[in-house]
Amino acid sequence: MSMLGRDTKKCPRCEAKCLLSQLRCPECGLVFSRMENATNKAGWQRLKNKEKDAVLYVNQVPPDLKKWKLILFTVLFGLFGGGYFYVKRWQRGIFYLIGFALLTISVVLNAYLVNVWDGLLIQLFGLFVGIYGVMWILDIIFVCTGKFKIPVSLPEEEKK
Ligand SMILES: [Zn+2]
Repeated sequence: MSMLGRDTKKCPRCEAKCLLSQLRCPECGLVFSRMENATNKAGWQRLKNKEKDAVLYVNQVPPDLKKWKLILFTVLFGLFGGGYFYVKRWQRGIFYLIGFALLTISVVLNAYLVNVWDGLLIQLFGLFVGIYGVMWILDIIFVCTGKFKIPVSLPEEEKK
């Protein structure tokens, strides 16, 4: 069986290659049409309940989020982790806040920090800030090309 790229898609759960015509993933059994109901809100709820197995990280923007908002937050507030906070990837967002704090500290206290550990500390700060800056630029590229991972899950059904 030949699998040409244009006739295939990737399963959002297990990343197995599937034919476009397949309604469910032959590897993990995910029914693709159910993914249309998956939301970021439900994903966040599952993460809070420590049900990590029920959370999928997908590239497609779920119905409860807006792509233009994701782009806006990533571009304008990306250095503060804005895009990550928007999709509720808090841990990654906090990493960006730390990056921004280090950037601020290394600028404001530069004259003092250059003398600490023969300048090693300011170099370490600079390295971290550099990595974080590159990550932000990659985020913008990923968001614009639809490769930014968003946690989603199916809402809990009929819980009365
Ligand atoms: Zn699968």
